[in-house]
Amino acid sequence: MARALVWFKRDLRVADHAPLAAAAACDEALALFVIEPAWLRSPECHPRHVATLLACLAALGEALAARGLPLVLRVGEAVEVLAQLRREWRFDRLFSHEETGPGWSYARDIAAGRWCRAEGVAWTEWPQTGVVRRLKDRRGWAGRWQARMAAPLVAAPAGLRAAPGFGATPLPTLRELGVDPAPPTPAAGEAAAQRTLQGFLAGRAVGYRRHLSSPLTAEDGCSRLSAHLAFGTVSMRQVHQATEAAIAATPHRELAWGLRGFSSRLRWHCHFMQKLEDEPQIEFRNFARSHDGLRAGDGVHPGAVDTARLQAWCEGRTGFPMVDACMRQLCATGWLNFRMRAMLVSFAAYHLGLHWREPGLFLARQLLDFEPGIHWSQMQMQSGTTGINTLRIYSPAKQQAEQDPDGTYVRRWLPELGTAAYPQPIVDERAALADIKARLYALRQTGPARDEADAIQARHGSRKAGLPPSAGRPARTRRKPGATPDDAQGELF
Ligand SMILES: Cc1cc2nc3c(=O)[nH]c(=O)nc-3n(C[C@H](O)[C@H](O)[C@H](O)COP(=O)(O)OP(=O)(O)OC[C@H]3O[C@@H](n4cnc5c(N)ncnc54)[C@H](O)[C@@H]3O)c2cc1C
Repeated sequence: MARALVWFKRDLRVADHAPLAAAAACDEALALFVIEPAWLRSPECHPRHVATLLACLAALGEALAARGLPLVLRVGEAVEVLAQLRREWRFDRLFSHEETGPGWSYARDIAAGRWCRAEGVAWTEWPQTGVVRRLKDRRGWAGRWQARMAAPLVAAPAGLRAAPGFGATPLPTLRELGVDPAPPTPAAGEAAAQRTLQGFLAGRAVGYRRHLSSPLTAEDGCSRLSAHLAFGTVSMRQVHQATEAAIAATPHRELAWGLRGFSSRLRWHCHFMQKLEDEPQIEFRNFARSHDGLRAGDGVHPGAVDTARLQAWCEGRTGFPMVDACMRQLCATGWLNFRMRAMLVSFAAYHLGLHWREPGLFLARQLLDFEPGIHWSQMQMQSGTTGINTLRIYSPAKQQAEQDPDGTYVRRWLPELGTAAYPQPIVDERAALADIKARLYALRQTGPARDEADAIQARHGSRKAGLPPSAGRPARTRRKPGATPDDAQGELF
């Protein structure tokens, strides 16, 4: 008698779901989602995340019920929930996807593994992205990514045999979970993810590369799939395969060009997650330890974090209109395009001299698509603490001139602009940059920093071997007139 518990985490779909398909071959099955207090009280969690989760769970519950499986929801620490459920129903298999999550989920997985071994429960985990567990080094990684993404999709099982005596658990409300009311959130769930994907592939992707950089065009011009990928309402393989099929099918050169730009970003997604998988500590400390002490807040620098600067940045009140407008958009909507995220972080790190951890937690709360592996790698990359990437310091004035030349965007998000209510710049840009640049460039020239950079490059740097020829070509050679410099991000990885 095989009894399988399918533990849903960041994979809230029934299509291309290997654990669910495996459970269909068992004698009895149940589906479980655990709403974990460790998550609810984590500094990365925002009511908009919880509201979106509940919407995803509602859709998932319906899809599972249609296949004969109730979705059991429990609120509690995962190991306690598993133990309680096993007292109610003696499952002997635990099926789930691998997760590359923040520190609290890493600790929970270790505890869950220990519990499974003690209880004699066989826990099988399947990968759902290109991230490779226990990777020795990056050689051949890109080829493995390609092979995983090209593997056939797992069909959603038609029917499952539910464990007797269980029904679907009604969804809790935000209030019942002790969570504040959430701002409006975009449609969530598997069907919403498919609508977003198909709408993008069928037309929005035309002009993709030109629309990426300006916050005026990015909202509609980007794929807007990141939150769906973060909640797992669509799999990376589904997106990859649908994209490749769309490229092959379209006679429209402009659309194909846009889709190819998008396609390479899907690999970046996993490339960044792999860094956290390989080195979980990058959530908390610098990639390059030689950079410890550079800014207050890293546990080594003797100074205290400048909370007034941090607060002004979080509230969008720095006196730099492009920075403030971006922050206001992000806080109001939960989304911002890549370049403007990078500019916000660059401003916090270089203009304000803030260490990336506190700003990173604030952004993680705001971003509906918070994906720890991408997020913390990017926070460090844009703050200059990876030790290996070209330093990129964004000038807010230059970004405004290029991306919002007539001021439409800043006026939209800063109604008080031009009045006495709008603050003066909180820092002298020239002096702030001169200081941090001098210190960083000097640091990078030191022997220990150089040696460390070689080691970081060897461990985390990207390798193109194993990709099809078009995907392997450097981004620079694929740039066309009209493409934005963001197309060249790949050169920096
Ligand atoms: C400081 C900072 C923090 C970030 N935090 C996150 C995060 O928590 N979650 C997240 O998904 N992305 C993050 N990004 C990357 C990027 O900004 C978002 O993926 C993108 O803006 C999401 O919008 P979209 O889905 O319309 O993406 P598109 O621009 O259409 O890109 C398609 C997909 O490719 C992937 N992708 C795109 N750009 C990148 C990139 N630079 N690195 C890795 N993957 C990429 C994402 O999965 C994205 O959904 C961050 C970037 C910065 C600079």
